[in-house]
Amino acid sequence: AGTLYVVATPIGNLGDLSARAREVLAAVDAICAEDTRHTRQLLAQTGIERPLLALHEHNEEDVAWKLVERLRAGETLALVSDAGTPLVSDPGYRLVREVRAAGLKVSPVPGACAAIAALSVAGIPSDRFCFEGFLPAKASGRREKLTALSGESRTMVFYESAHRIEESLADMAAAFGGGREAVVARELTKLFETVLGDTLDELIGKIAADDNQRKGEFVVVVRGCEDDTEARLLEGQRLYAKLAEHLK
Ligand code: SAM
Repeated sequence: AGTLYVVATPIGNLGDLSARAREVLAAVDAICAEDTRHTRQLLAQTGIERPLLALHEHNEEDVAWKLVERLRAGETLALVSDAGTPLVSDPGYRLVREVRAAGLKVSPVPGACAAIAALSVAGIPSDRFCFEGFLPAKASGRREKLTALSGESRTMVFYESAHRIEESLADMAAAFGGGREAVVARELTKLFETVLGDTLDELIGKIAADDNQRKGEFVVVVRGCEDDTEARLLEGQRLYAKLAEHLK
């Protein structure tokens, strides 16, 4: 039977496509891609021509068993997403699960991942961290999630898009306190790469003052809660605010 290779692609800089990724992508029978147009462009830039199959959130379940059949028949396949490492806030989990459940081989071709790239330059404790991916789009869900994370002692890593970065940072300041240290890593490996580190309050000010700082793709790395006293103090303030709301 064949192998499913899970291949990381660049998060901006084409030079980050590894030699082995090129080799594997050029050799497989087909490449499963989140967005075939996007991947076709990447392949064209690298001179690779292989058949592409669409595999996204909406068809993953239907397509997975067909791909298992192809692997059983001896074909070799690759899975890529639009950028970075598949399955990290990207499709592929169901496919990988099905292929493994069928007793077939899944092999990684590691490479770029925005979360790890941001963590590697943040200068915030990185011995223990939790990846939180995207926060809920709705304000209420986002605030609830952040409140639940206010006592988290590990460094937290979030993904964010340009149109929600300001709201999210404001909600983080409300949940964690504006004095909490964070790093906003923008457009990593691209022309306008910037890595800003400061307290949440200061970061909000810097980003509000500069239109350019609101453009592109973002990773936010937030220092964990230093000690229980800080968490308890914030929890106390929140309860007080709720109480005050009811007493009005
Ligand atoms: N699978 C990808 C990975 O390994 O990083 C992540 C895919 S997720 C759909 C896209 C998000 O990753 C963006 O909204 C942004 O938060 C983050 N991201 C991707 N590329 C980035 C970059 N060059 N700089 C900063 N953040 C990036």
